[in-house]
Amino acid sequence: MSIDHLPSLKQVIDTHGLAAKKSLGQNFLLDLNLTAKIARLSGRNDDHDVLEIGPGPGGLTRGLLAEGARRVLAIEKDERCLPALAEIETAYPDRLKVMLGDALDINPRDHLTPPIRVAANLPYNIGTELLVRWLTPPEWPPFWDSLTLMFQREVAQRITAEPGSKAYGRLAVLAQWRTDATIVMNLPPEAFSPPPKVSSAVVHLTALPAPRFPADAKMLQHVTATAFNQRRKMLRSSLKGLTPDIEDHLNAAGIKPTERAEQIDVEGFCALARSLSTQT
Ligand code: SAM
Repeated sequence: MSIDHLPSLKQVIDTHGLAAKKSLGQNFLLDLNLTAKIARLSGRNDDHDVLEIGPGPGGLTRGLLAEGARRVLAIEKDERCLPALAEIETAYPDRLKVMLGDALDINPRDHLTPPIRVAANLPYNIGTELLVRWLTPPEWPPFWDSLTLMFQREVAQRITAEPGSKAYGRLAVLAQWRTDATIVMNLPPEAFSPPPKVSSAVVHLTALPAPRFPADAKMLQHVTATAFNQRRKMLRSSLKGLTPDIEDHLNAAGIKPTERAEQIDVEGFCALARSLSTQT
């Protein structure tokens, strides 16, 4: 049973010739029950505008609209998808706006009323870049209140990882600094068409009203990128390029200079970023 009166996604793909392109990270979800479930994981959206990146043939778009999103802005790079998305626009008058373009170039704030929600089965090649942008605006709270995002499972694990684990790194620190982040669904490759080589997972991130610890977003990004770039080295060595007196800053932040990046929790990295921000 379909969630709306539109043709099945398989028919949509056949009718509009939407053979998946690897270069655009196209692994489509064809099961509308699944897309409706993912839409529900993003919350009740009847009083929220929703941003979707990469609607493709529109499975998740249809889920979001059928589940009651107030308005959806869908940004898609592949113009072959536009006729299929136009059919959805017609079925949900005034509730869907489709923009053709690169999600990295379009500012959704110009088109939606905040706080918005973001829901997307992200193209793998820009997924982490978009996430980092959403997590690191200079001001907080941001223009969104939650992100419900499909990633390769390994990336989802990096976002939710705890200190001391192999997956813990820059993404975990940035995500857990300002959000509550949880894996809410795991999907096997067969859930997609064509099936990717790896499993996927949906991560739900809720913006905290304020960051857990004070820090400058740019500095925190810089410090974590540098520290985890050489994660096996002691911090006094991996971070020595930042400043000649890095040991003083590590000590001021309560971190032993001989510790390694993966041993430092979010609070520690924030303390280090604060100390580095105060240097003249
Ligand atoms: N949402 C659809 C679904 O779940 O079936 C498609 C998801 S598919 C993993 C990723 C989608 O992102 C594709 O439709 C692809 O064309 C689109 N895409 C790739 N790069 C993009 C970019 N830079 N900006 C916007 N969309 C992009």
